Parts: sequence; C-alpha cells; structure tokens
Amino acid sequence: MRLMLLGAPGAGKGTQAKFLIDKYNIPQISTGDILREAVSEGTDMGLKAKIAMDNGQLVSDDIIMGIIKDRLSKDDCKKGFILDGFPRTIVQAEELEILMKELNIKLDYVISLNVADDEIVERITGRRVSKLTGKIYHIKYNPPVDEKEEDLIIRKDDNKDTVLKRLEAYHEQTAPLIGFYKEKGIFKEINGMQKIENIISELENIIEGK
Ligand code: AMP
Repeated sequence: MRLMLLGAPGAGKGTQAKFLIDKYNIPQISTGDILREAVSEGTDMGLKAKIAMDNGQLVSDDIIMGIIKDRLSKDDCKKGFILDGFPRTIVQAEELEILMKELNIKLDYVISLNVADDEIVERITGRRVSKLTGKIYHIKYNPPVDEKEEDLIIRKDDNKDTVLKRLEAYHEQTAPLIGFYKEKGIFKEINGMQKIENIISELENIIEGK
C-alpha cells in the first residue's frame, strides 16, 4: 500500500500516519520530520532548510527530492509507505512520478484531510509533541495523562504568525495537487474535523476498498 496524506499543516496527517504505521506495518515518510532532524543535527542540509522552515515557507524542491530519492530506495519502503507532507508542490509531484516510474511503483491513494483554516490555527497553536515518543497532543483537546513524563515540546514553527504563512504556502503551492491527483483518479478526501475514530474508519474504508 502506497499512500500520500495531503492537507494543511495541523490537519492531522501525522496523527493518522502513526495509526497507519501500526495497522498496516508500513513506514511513514515525513519530509518535515527528516528536515527537523537535519536541523537539530546541524547538517549542511539542515542549515539550508532552517531559514525557510522558521519562516513558514517551503524548502527548495531540490533539497526535498534529494531526501525522497534517498528514503524511497531503502528496503523498508518495498512493502509500501505513507507519504506525509510530501509532495507539496506540482514540481515535487511531477518528479515523484518520474522516480516512481523508475522504481516501477505507483501511489494507490492520495487522501486529503480537510480542515478549515480557523481550526488549523487553533490546533497548531495548541499542538505539543512528546520528545520521548513523537506522539502529538493538543493542550486543550487531547492532553497527555502525564505532561511531565511525556516531556512535551512546542515546534519552533507552531506559532500564530508562522502558521498563517504556512497556510498561505499550502493554499498557493500545495492545494493545486488536488487537481493533479484527481486527474489521475486516485484522489480521496475525508472531513478532518470529525472525531479521530471516524477519520480512522473512513481511512480504513478507503484503503480496504469499501
Ligand atoms: P511539516 O512537518 O510537514 O509541517 O513541515 C515543516 C516544514 O518543513 C514546512 O513548513 C516546510 O518549511 C518544510 N517542508 C516539509 N516538507 C516539505 C516539502 N515536501 N516541500 C517543501 N518544504 C517542506
């Protein structure tokens, strides 16, 4: 199963990807996570990406395609994968097509999680990530049982100003992917503002072809 989760920042892609990893035993490929790791390790790529990330802008397609080529060639991707936060531009989507042709594979579904912009801002400004497990929480709507134990952190780009810029980047550069994948006949969408259990069951129905 090869899936791509599409949606604005904070639409729930990461949360749903974590569920899909456990259920279908396939890896999540989050370009955002890979970039954050590079930033924290201070690699060349991290240094190049950091300014764009802190400003809520997209990192260059060149850097992103380098990451993806490297990642998709790893053994654990042979049984499938979940793309989370990639592609984010038409150029990336076109280059992914070329890469997948070379690897002789195809995406099964592109699933969009739809959430209204005002809810995105509310979600992201309350988002916390466990340093320990990577699990995603919300201070108000989904707090952890023990805040201290989880060692919660706030992502540097999870503030209101940056979120508004990230939303702008989403609408201008990423939303055109909806048309791109509709044309390919693999586009599906889910209302991302329902209870998590309902989103999960809609995802399962899509994946299992119900
Ligand atoms: P995310 O964790 O997916 O919200 O990504 C965090 C930040 O990393 C984004 O705001 C971008 O600056 C950068 N980023 C992640 N994935 C991509 C991508 N596919 N193309 C360009 N920039 C990306």
